[in-house]
Amino acid sequence: FESGHDLTLFDQNTKKPLRCRVQVILPIDRPYDYILPYGPDGQQINLEPGQIVQVPVGRRILPGVVWDGAADEDVPLKKLKEIISVSEAIPLKAELRKFVEWVSSYTLSPQGSVLKMALSVPQALETIVGQKLYHLVVGREPQEGFRITAARQRVLDLVSDSGGWVLGDLAKEAAVSSSVIKGLEQAGLIESYFDRPDFSFPAPKSDIKGPELSHGQREAADDLMARVREHVFSTVLLDGVTGSGKTEVYFEAVEAAMKEGRQVLVLLPEIALSSQWLDRFEQRFGVAPAEWHSELSPALRRKTWRAVSEGKASVVVGARSALILPYDNLGLIIVDEEHEGSFKQEDGVYYHARDMAVVRAKCCSCPVVLASATPALETMINVQNGRYDRLILPGRHGGAGMPDVELIDLRFDKPERLNTGPGWLSQALRGAIRKTLDAGEQAMLFLNRRGYAPLTLCRTCGHRMQCPHCTAWLVEHRRFARLQCHHCGFNTALPNACPSCAAEDTLVACGPGVERIVEEAKKLFPDANVALMASDTMTSPAATREMVKSIQNREVNLLVGTQVVAKGYHFPYLTLVGVVDADLGLFGGDLRAAERTFQLLHQVAGRAGRAEHKGRVLLQTSDPNHPVMQTLKAGDRDKFLEQEAETRARGHLPPFGRLAAIIVSGPDESELDNFCASLARAIPQIDGAQILGPAPAPLALLRGKFRRRFLIMSKRSIAPQGIAKEWLSRVKPSSRIRVVVDIDPYSF
Ligand code: ADP
Ligand code: ZN
Repeated sequence: FESGHDLTLFDQNTKKPLRCRVQVILPIDRPYDYILPYGPDGQQINLEPGQIVQVPVGRRILPGVVWDGAADEDVPLKKLKEIISVSEAIPLKAELRKFVEWVSSYTLSPQGSVLKMALSVPQALETIVGQKLYHLVVGREPQEGFRITAARQRVLDLVSDSGGWVLGDLAKEAAVSSSVIKGLEQAGLIESYFDRPDFSFPAPKSDIKGPELSHGQREAADDLMARVREHVFSTVLLDGVTGSGKTEVYFEAVEAAMKEGRQVLVLLPEIALSSQWLDRFEQRFGVAPAEWHSELSPALRRKTWRAVSEGKASVVVGARSALILPYDNLGLIIVDEEHEGSFKQEDGVYYHARDMAVVRAKCCSCPVVLASATPALETMINVQNGRYDRLILPGRHGGAGMPDVELIDLRFDKPERLNTGPGWLSQALRGAIRKTLDAGEQAMLFLNRRGYAPLTLCRTCGHRMQCPHCTAWLVEHRRFARLQCHHCGFNTALPNACPSCAAEDTLVACGPGVERIVEEAKKLFPDANVALMASDTMTSPAATREMVKSIQNREVNLLVGTQVVAKGYHFPYLTLVGVVDADLGLFGGDLRAAERTFQLLHQVAGRAGRAEHKGRVLLQTSDPNHPVMQTLKAGDRDKFLEQEAETRARGHLPPFGRLAAIIVSGPDESELDNFCASLARAIPQIDGAQILGPAPAPLALLRGKFRRRFLIMSKRSIAPQGIAKEWLSRVKPSSRIRVVVDIDPYSF
């Protein structure tokens, strides 16, 4: 409602008007004081912490949340403004406010920025009663002469979604003017009403039986179910190779939570690529779960937000941002593929969703399950020191064996040149593919590089095609005849002449990307049905579903893919996996280079031999003695983790020491360097911690901004947050310089 307050009441009031604190969704760190709104009767309306309100800030009106703590009564009244309106959405619970505060203090992001994620505005606030929502009139045919143009059809398609649409969203999403919508309303094909829309999702069914679990699976499932019923916080690693039944096991826990009447959050690393997971969920529970990710339409986003807050969505499956939704009674969190790097958000608020999931579970007093075949070193160390529990699933379900992993030494088995150009597949790998195809089975070639070639250079002058805005080479995408920057999206047509020396027909593609492997595979195996699976081709869940289907029903027998193929798909006829360049991720000296490469290759290898056929994995490497290759070959994950732990402990690196990265960026290089120099001069001396830098950041130029980096390295017992806060407050940057703090950077 609007407060409808008459300003004269304000002056005549002898009593001091009541105030409260409101945290607005701006990058500010503390709540501001406001005057409580007046009702139609002239009385002030008391608000509780958590209520969502609209308040004036400067000349703008912004959403905010009534925050805990008393307003400062000493601030003169005339300095304060009045709350404008109050949303009828359910107030944010204390546990979510606590979580917002915690995330803010841990990540050093302003509280208002973290809160903004929780409100996911403007959607949450459009839920104020009185919202006019457009719906399809089901079964109504257009009258004679009323033509369904393409624009009208777009509107009709959108409103067939159950949530109901606000005019502005609908017009924007359908790319039509509002008169098109009004026209459809006049024609009686759509209707709008102020009624409160239905914000619920169908409840999953808990009477559908899952598969009969093996003894080991049953024990793990029982343990998880007991935790769910206890309503206390605990963190448990569900540890088992791909195919051991982790998903089946945690589905039992999901069911238990639903029976308790509590909500479940399942975090998946890449929800857009999770069509198979969603299908499985639907088979198991009879309905689709509520989804939460960046691709949701505004209407569905609003509906989901409300359903979650009112407890009318029992299971939410989402990307990392689903962590901060206003659950009514969260009873279980599952982080599937907990080791995945994509759980780290590096934009806005920098946080790791796995770690924040543990905190969220703690705030809600519920268990959190981390599932993985290749747990992060951090997680394993937490198991060892007793902070996390562990449940182990023995082997693959149904006794399918793990694939044999063999190394192909590229120094001896050099991929031969085809007469048309360079080749990337060794003799050994070609032979294995031939055998697999002849046996009527499927093979997969893995290369974690999108596009045709990672580098284009001039044969005449050696010029390399670089992104004008980033320290990065342009990647050729031959399908579109374009060069593209994978960091900023810049793209340009492939030129005929070298931009540097003007020589013509002199640009050559260097190195392989997946498109080039497809080209080679088609030449080598003209009888095969080759398909490409990369994020450029899997642009929607529907496209992914199609592709997965055509692999499962064997229309495709030679699959080429980037890391999107590594993500938990079951391809029963796939028996051979060839990794084109196993060393790719090891370059660059990154903190997690070895760990990430091990995890990725292990996961890719896990695609081979899921059913009765034994799988075989061939890794092409130039460094077969590297510990990553050796442990992959031996299938010895724990040995890898042990070696990795030793290396990290020696370097006092996480999880044995703490790390924070400070990224400083700006459009003017000399101004940036001056600022970095003053920061460097202000570096404090602290026992047990050191600050390194400035050094060029990994992408020294990104989207036209120059970037420098400092690193804070400290002992486990010293929090880098305090150091960063104190140090950074000593030197104030100009408005053109941005300082970002990344606590526990994922890579460096
Ligand atoms: P993970 O999540 O560990 O990779 P999944 O839960 O996906 O393993 O199980 C792998 C495959 O084995 C799936 O197709 C799953 O349905 C099947 N499976 C696992 N456990 C059982 C079981 N007890 N009975 C029947 N099928 C099972
Ligand atoms: Zn770029």
